[in-house]
Amino acid sequence: MTPTITLNREAGLHGLAFTSAAPPPCLVCGDGGAQLFADLGHTALANNLTAEPAPAGEPRYPLRAGYCPRCWHVQLLDRVPPAAMFTEYCYLSSASSTLREHLGRLAATAAARLHLGPDELAVDIGANDGTLLAALGRLQPSARLQGIDPAANLAALARAAGVSTEVAYFNLDSARMLMDRHGRRARLITATNSFPHIPELDSYLAGVAALLAPGGRFVVEAHYLGDLLDQLAFDTIYHEHVSYWALGPMRHALRRHGRDVADVERLPVPHGQLRAWIGHAGEVTPAPAVAALEQAEIAAGLRAPATYTRFAERLETLAHQLRQAVAGVWASGQRLAGYGAPAKAATLAAYCKLGPREIAWIADRNPLKQGRYLPGAGIPIVGCERLETDRPDVLLLFAWNFAPEIMAQLEPFRRAGGRFLVPVPEPRLVA
Ligand SMILES: [Zn+2]
Repeated sequence: MTPTITLNREAGLHGLAFTSAAPPPCLVCGDGGAQLFADLGHTALANNLTAEPAPAGEPRYPLRAGYCPRCWHVQLLDRVPPAAMFTEYCYLSSASSTLREHLGRLAATAAARLHLGPDELAVDIGANDGTLLAALGRLQPSARLQGIDPAANLAALARAAGVSTEVAYFNLDSARMLMDRHGRRARLITATNSFPHIPELDSYLAGVAALLAPGGRFVVEAHYLGDLLDQLAFDTIYHEHVSYWALGPMRHALRRHGRDVADVERLPVPHGQLRAWIGHAGEVTPAPAVAALEQAEIAAGLRAPATYTRFAERLETLAHQLRQAVAGVWASGQRLAGYGAPAKAATLAAYCKLGPREIAWIADRNPLKQGRYLPGAGIPIVGCERLETDRPDVLLLFAWNFAPEIMAQLEPFRRAGGRFLVPVPEPRLVA
């Protein structure tokens, strides 16, 4: 049976008053002086694809990123209740072959480093549809596997795949519940791509501290702030992502809970990712890579206000140039459509003020998105057959960090004279 995934999770949110007040305390250190550097306006929730072009009462929230001048953690200055975003979720780990292979490699690396013995516990936080734990189970069949994820629709998929999964947010309470259930702590805890989503970081890290067995490892993967700044990947800023992690603030947060980073890697994925291997502070001798990356962060200006000022300036220039490029296409009598509707397309469209007048439609291969509309922008999302039946002249690539692969897939479109508009970091037309 094909499970039903509900994309629209707005129930109960209509009319919710949301005002942008003074910045909340820093997620990492509690300082109250966060400095705004990227104001992306009032935007719709990036994964709430709508059934109508611009539904009345579509919830919008302020989207502003700032840095903490004390610990330099980059974070959202306005936080949306998690229940508005994560109780159902349309992004499946297993749906992307790239992600499936990535998680398979992580499972193999973790199995090789930790050698989970019989009945030793591995917990995956934000376990999604169980892809990572299922891969780990194939390598370490005698280990106990436990997923935890707030999205009931995903947990049902994981259970159907044989992975025990609890529907809950991870925090100190749910960590204790898992310890009671299994009668042991976890040798391995993983959090791939959920770590940027955590608004109550203290309770989350207290849960990790309680659940992690002596000698165990907590493995975090997160989009890396250094890459975000270099690539001008401002469109990965949306409400789900409350944190944009660099190593320095991550160690600051962990040390408050008696934990530290034992080893760190930058992963060569297109958007750039950080993987940290974390242990109990007293047991951990950080590998040379840890100090080296912290030094590199200081040298790259991750702890200098000017870096963030410059990011904001580049962002304004990008929006201006992209609007000019889009207007130029239409002014020359050509038609512009979009290709790919990832969540970040909502941020790009909102900040650059692109709607259905600028982008006729967006083709996306995911049937769950087709027939829906880009949140906030009201641009229709259609199937890829539209490229044949209603051929545009130029395609804006919203998943710009995969531009080489996408352009290779769309070689027939290019060969027939089609061009691509790659929006980030500097808008450019590719023939
Ligand atoms: Zn701070």
